[in-house]
Amino acid sequence: MKTDLVNEILNRLNYLKPKHGNLVIDSDVHLSDIEAITDESLKARALSNNYYQGKPINIDMALANMEMAGVDMCLVWQNPSVTSYTDSKGFNFQSLLKANEYIYKAVSNYPNRFIPGGWVDPKATDMELTSQLIKICVQDFGFPIIKINPAQNQFMIDSDVVFRVVEEIYSYGAIPAFHFGADTPYTPVEGLEKVVAFAKERPVIAIHMGGGGASYIEADETYIKARVLGLKYPNLKYVLSAKRDTHIESDLISYQLKGMPFIQNLMCASDAPYGNMSWNFGGYRELFKSLKNRILHPDSRIKNHEDLFDDNAVANYMGNNMARLAIEGYTSILKVNAVKLYENFHSFSENSDIK
Ligand SMILES: [Zn+2]
Repeated sequence: MKTDLVNEILNRLNYLKPKHGNLVIDSDVHLSDIEAITDESLKARALSNNYYQGKPINIDMALANMEMAGVDMCLVWQNPSVTSYTDSKGFNFQSLLKANEYIYKAVSNYPNRFIPGGWVDPKATDMELTSQLIKICVQDFGFPIIKINPAQNQFMIDSDVVFRVVEEIYSYGAIPAFHFGADTPYTPVEGLEKVVAFAKERPVIAIHMGGGGASYIEADETYIKARVLGLKYPNLKYVLSAKRDTHIESDLISYQLKGMPFIQNLMCASDAPYGNMSWNFGGYRELFKSLKNRILHPDSRIKNHEDLFDDNAVANYMGNNMARLAIEGYTSILKVNAVKLYENFHSFSENSDIK
């Protein structure tokens, strides 16, 4: 890892560390370089006002959304809807590399607004190219999290190659993230459990917590099983996006009652541009307000517990949990990839009190 990048990562850490408990973070946002879309009709469609599934947003659009939604930072990754693939693995590698490069541009221009996540695809490329991309994402871009999407990229979450990719991501000190939803047959709860068990105490992030665009009826069983699984494995982190709001409420109550370390494992998100950031974060704020209302809330678990959702609990879900995870990821990639520089950095405190 080059010194410049180490300094960039240290700057990102120096921003997050004192602020982590006071940040509102959207933990699932997709960014696209709309100007770089080469197909003119696709670009015109992307820039039109008519919404369609997958309609991309760029860095500036995301920043405007954040301002309107009262969101301080976002965990960002590429948007697969505008990343073109062909039959050539080399072409697909270049395509993903460019998409990841744009995420690096976002964090490098706005280190206090974005937490970067990489994206790899062992099916559209292969294991060797995936390893190369993981290395670039960590060692050249400083990404603490790398995402694998078995649903949109069409492979089973517990296929052999996934375990190899996960191990490779850990070997660079980064944290693997998965699309995990009821929207395709590729990410069943049982498959996710194999990955989480394989990871042992190392963190695994599962985006959507069983949602991801499936019909509410179809997703119901996955929602319920996902909750049970999450309360069994302390290393399983869930991002609440593209999921039925009523189930999100139930998840939050169950986790809050369970206590540490599970209360650090859920994170609010919008899945923008697939979801609307203002709608989601406006909803989250009102939801937490209702969860503090012991008089009116009909759930006996809220009525029977004084201050179940205090300000600290709300801050955890709204941003602190993601901030802590990002700090853990950044610290870990520095330790693995910049040992000497890491050791020499005096103002960097190993024993900082991240609560
Ligand atoms: Zn997403």
